[in-house]
Amino acid sequence: MRVSDLGMSNGYDIHTHSSFSDGTTSVNEIAQEISRLGLRGFSLTDHDTIVGWDNAREAAESFKVDFLPGIEITTKFDGLSRHLLAYGIDANHVEIFKALDEVRASRETRIDRMVENLSVDFSFTLENILKGSDTVSLGRPHLADALIEAGYFANRSEAFDAVLHPDSPYYTTTTVLHTLDAIRLVRAAGGVPVIAHPAATRQDAPLPVESLQQFVEAGLWGIELDHPENRTEWLPGLEAAANEFNLVVTGASDFHGSGKSNRLGDRFSDVSVVERIREIVATPF
Ligand code: AMP
Ligand code: ZN
Ligand code: FE
Ligand code: FE
Repeated sequence: MRVSDLGMSNGYDIHTHSSFSDGTTSVNEIAQEISRLGLRGFSLTDHDTIVGWDNAREAAESFKVDFLPGIEITTKFDGLSRHLLAYGIDANHVEIFKALDEVRASRETRIDRMVENLSVDFSFTLENILKGSDTVSLGRPHLADALIEAGYFANRSEAFDAVLHPDSPYYTTTTVLHTLDAIRLVRAAGGVPVIAHPAATRQDAPLPVESLQQFVEAGLWGIELDHPENRTEWLPGLEAAANEFNLVVTGASDFHGSGKSNRLGDRFSDVSVVERIREIVATPF
């Protein structure tokens, strides 16, 4: 929902990143800002990790906001990167965490390779960026920060546009889950799968409806149509499909601290969405 449509006091920002992945703020700062904005709660959806959940629960309690456990899983479908949000998975589900461990390990080898590639033309090191960091999920934003520190770029966006995008000669891919496998795993782990930013500007085209249909057949529950990076002109087709497939529509900011222009609470979901999630998941709080 857009801020103007609904009262923020019933709003949850259910897609946020902390310094445990590639956000620049702590979980505590996120909870504090959620409270300051007058939102009811938030979900922490760090990339491929739930390591921040315990801190987030504590922070939510101290700032008197509500916490919904979440994660954003890196997946691929038809050769394209597709991010899958998942809420309320069982933190002890062996199979999903074995898969996520592999995804994070692959992120590390991939970053090593990209450092090698970039080092041919850029003189920089990741050392300082990682020294002060609590990340367990390395990503290109950390490379961006290292290149910014070395003086090559002014912000992450510039670094992505110049050298970190998928068509860049410096780019290497990661081993990730197939989107359909990830959807099934999330369901098996008692979670609710929601496809993230299906019409994001960083993609060449919106998620095809035929792909969405396969996601639905695998168990997809929701679709993040209200996201600051979704392209408005790509939305009508996806809205019609979401309606046809009975998907729940979610909204969220995809906050990354100062790493992106997305502001916390820019977009949010109504409490009713969070209540529906809580009715069916293994870890509702
Ligand atoms: P990776 O996990 O290595 O594939 O990097 C993807 C992450 O980079 C996502 O979380 C995005 O939010 C972030 N990202 C992608 N493009 C940009 C950009 N132009 N500016 C800042 N962050 C970006
Ligand atoms: Zn990110
Ligand atoms: Fe994403
Ligand atoms: Fe995200």
